[in-house]
Amino acid sequence: MDAKKIRDSILPVVAVAATKTRSIEEIQEAIADGIRDIGENRIQEADVKYAQLRALFAEKNVKFHFIGKLQKNKVKKAVSMFDLIQSVDSFELAAEIDRQAGIIKKKQDILVEVNIGEEPQKAGIIKDKLHKTLESIKQLPHVMVKGLMAIPPYTENPEASRQYFREMKKIYEREKTPDFEFLSMGMSSDYKIAIEEGANMVRLGTLLFGKRR
Ligand SMILES: *Cc1c(COP(=O)(O)O)cnc(C)c1O
Repeated sequence: MDAKKIRDSILPVVAVAATKTRSIEEIQEAIADGIRDIGENRIQEADVKYAQLRALFAEKNVKFHFIGKLQKNKVKKAVSMFDLIQSVDSFELAAEIDRQAGIIKKKQDILVEVNIGEEPQKAGIIKDKLHKTLESIKQLPHVMVKGLMAIPPYTENPEASRQYFREMKKIYEREKTPDFEFLSMGMSSDYKIAIEEGANMVRLGTLLFGKRR
């Protein structure tokens, strides 16, 4: 084991609060409890919350993440708001992010979403296409690929997700560049398993806030 490998293996795990449907007060409470990463699924909802929380975010050094399906016509708004866009699922989307980031002279951090279960209805790039797509995205001057994100197929039994998390970690190690920092996988029901298999970023909703309304 080299020093970098050891260091990477003991880096802390980032808990991103998945705040869809949660109120401003609930998000403030999470920040008061030490959460420093806030994840949003919808641009419109995020926009309202961001307007109200921006000062608190700046004061507490909170990072704002986009974790939902990003429509092309919402990219401009997303680039203006988010520190990390986790759900980049095509070259075309990355190219639009690059274009919008270029206009405001930003380098936008992103994660590339992998459809690890190869589910037809699900977002994300399939394994066979991942390497080539990453190669193309990495050429974009205003986009920085900071790692990978995945949501394994839904299951009642979290242990069933382990094989997907393990496979994601392998893919992450294979594709990783010196810019990679995050392997974002695991949610309330399976985050412990995800961490055991190498996640260093988990996205938690119900665990932090209770059942969604
Ligand atoms: C809602 C959501 C989560 C969190 O889900 P929980 O099961 O409530 O923890 C994580 N990731 C994404 C992309 C989400 O939309």
